[in-house]
Amino acid sequence: MELQGQVALVTGGGQGIGAETARQLAAQGAKIVVADWNEETAAQCVEELRGAGGEAVATKADVSKQGEAERIVELAVREFGRLDILINNAGITRDSSLLKMEPHQWDQVIAVNLSGVYYCAQAAARQMREQQYGRIVSASSISAFGNFGQTNYAATKAGVVGMTKSMAIELAHYGITVNAIAPGFIQTAMTSAIPNEMREATVAAIPVGRAGDPNDIARVYVFLSLPESSFITGQLFVIDGGRTLGR
Ligand code: NAP
Repeated sequence: MELQGQVALVTGGGQGIGAETARQLAAQGAKIVVADWNEETAAQCVEELRGAGGEAVATKADVSKQGEAERIVELAVREFGRLDILINNAGITRDSSLLKMEPHQWDQVIAVNLSGVYYCAQAAARQMREQQYGRIVSASSISAFGNFGQTNYAATKAGVVGMTKSMAIELAHYGITVNAIAPGFIQTAMTSAIPNEMREATVAAIPVGRAGDPNDIARVYVFLSLPESSFITGQLFVIDGGRTLGR
């Protein structure tokens, strides 16, 4: 139980990578706030965490609204007394080729994937500065390196890398580390809409010979959230089964 007594906030924690990360953080003893704009899945995740003996609360929140980001950080502090770990996991896709992309598709993805990370990180960092301790880990993606149909999404995921490095420099002397992860193809609801043929081609291009699952990513979130990971900051961890090697 390496996170006994610590408090973690997982955005988009109702399903997929976020829910698995919440489970693994709780298994290490952390108390969890699951924030998701899907109230139902957030509540289901918390029920499961409590059923396994953990302490957790669910809250409906849209991280693209600054006031809601501030509210979920306040909720963590009110419920559990502090906030040690922020997992900036909430994210959306609104895929389209550049020539067809509508401004609303651009705006929605920027609002959630980029502004949401800024709002949550800022609110969390203010609390973590008081504590002189914190771990912030955010979801980038290998799409940050470029992907057909994802000009909007790639811009946000590359943006997360720049934000992470800048925040890491600013926050290090408060005992706060800031890192990002770049998953490759992970089997979740987000990737389930991909047509079979494209999925098969994608998996065939992964050197380890399989798609990733949420466990592959959650393990790294937990590792970066540990107190012992204090010498790692401002880094991007690519977790893609080797997909981007040789590119
Ligand atoms: P997912 O299954 O779609 O789960 C994301 C969760 O976040 C959903 O519950 C979603 O709700 C919620 N959410 C979306 N926008 C939100 C907002 N504004 N405020 C609060 N909650 C919000 O996605 P995933 O595959 O687990 O991905 C998690 C993260 O990893 C994302 O940031 C994604 O970009 C990144 N990632 C995923 C992959 C992959 O292959 N799966 C690869 C690289 C990076 P709704 O379902 O109702 O929208």
